[in-house]
Amino acid sequence: METKTIKAFGTEAADKPLHSLQINRRVPEPHDVEIEILYCGICHSDLHASRDEWGGTKYPIVPGHEIVGRVTNVGNHVTKFKVGDIAAIGCIVDSCRECDYCKEGMEQFCEPGNTIVFGSRDKNMGGYTFGGFSESIVADENYVLHVPAGLDLAAAAPLLCAGITVYSPLKHWKTGPGKKIGIIGIGGLGHLAIKIAKAMGAHVIVFTTSISKAEDAERLGADEVVLSTDARQMKKQSKLDMILDTVSANHNVNDYLKMLKVDGSLVLVGLPVDDISVEAFKLVKGRKSFSGSNIGGIAETQEMLDFCAAHNITAEIEMITMQQINEAYDRMEKGDVRYRFVIDMATLKN
Ligand code: NAP
Ligand code: ZN
Ligand code: ZN
Repeated sequence: METKTIKAFGTEAADKPLHSLQINRRVPEPHDVEIEILYCGICHSDLHASRDEWGGTKYPIVPGHEIVGRVTNVGNHVTKFKVGDIAAIGCIVDSCRECDYCKEGMEQFCEPGNTIVFGSRDKNMGGYTFGGFSESIVADENYVLHVPAGLDLAAAAPLLCAGITVYSPLKHWKTGPGKKIGIIGIGGLGHLAIKIAKAMGAHVIVFTTSISKAEDAERLGADEVVLSTDARQMKKQSKLDMILDTVSANHNVNDYLKMLKVDGSLVLVGLPVDDISVEAFKLVKGRKSFSGSNIGGIAETQEMLDFCAAHNITAEIEMITMQQINEAYDRMEKGDVRYRFVIDMATLKN
């Protein structure tokens, strides 16, 4: 297989900062699209994985899974993209395409296992896949998304993971007019969840540990803002239909189970490292559900991009250079991001 060497940013160990390195990419096969990466968002999952917080990280790792760029080459069987198109890639770059879940458009739950953009076995080249903190990327056209015209490209990048990760459960749990939807945490996922839930027509209640973000939440579209460290404010909330939990660190979910109405659901998308403790009575009284959700399928990701374009939704971003990545990780760890870092990938060449 023909390959080419390109520049990337990554690391060989959990305790080592990200730095410049070189990786190989395949030259497009007949069904492949090659994209020059213009912008890549930084998700908390990139940080968890780089530092091996969940265990199992394959090194060297090149993170990055909120990718927007320009098509520079296509294989001779590609029909959906042409050179010059603006295209995007999220978490999933391949799957079996044959299992029940793939057939239903739920490639995120592919039974034999999907190929994630970084750290998955690379079926084409061997070794493990490398993500979007790189000059370019190659993927089968069926796993590449179209970016609707009119969206700011840098601010659209975070939709590829943060956007779909909140859109999918909000839709699944039937967010809409007349529903009281809670969002916990105003980070990359949380701030997009506020905007999307609001655009779906729900009454949106936001829970944050940060006073300064509480002051900003109404601007993002929240109907009510609760400082979660204030027990008095927390006690006032009741009868929520669904609460989406985007928190990246350990916290007490029982406080939120209490707030759900009968048959309500607390839905986890955040992935804290330690086990979560649930009080049985908090679920049993009120027939409540504690559940989770994982990104979204490819068709659903395109649907989300089209929804966001129709409602003029993009992320609030802080643009950084590739060289600022380690500082950005440290700030993200402290919850100090308004509200998503996006890397200007042109700076990778510096
Ligand atoms: P992020 O931008 O760092 O936001 C996380 C937010 O959680 C923070 O802004 C903060 O909000 C809140 N938080 C942090 N520490 C907290 C603590 N100790 N107690 C209470 N709240 C705390 O991260 P993100 O990129 O949105 O990702 C959030 C989580 O989702 C991560 O664990 C990530 O790995 C996971 N994730 C899951 C999926 C999936 O498919 N399920 C996809 C993408 C990401 P406030 O300042 O408002 O309190
Ligand atoms: Zn992510
Ligand atoms: Zn499958």
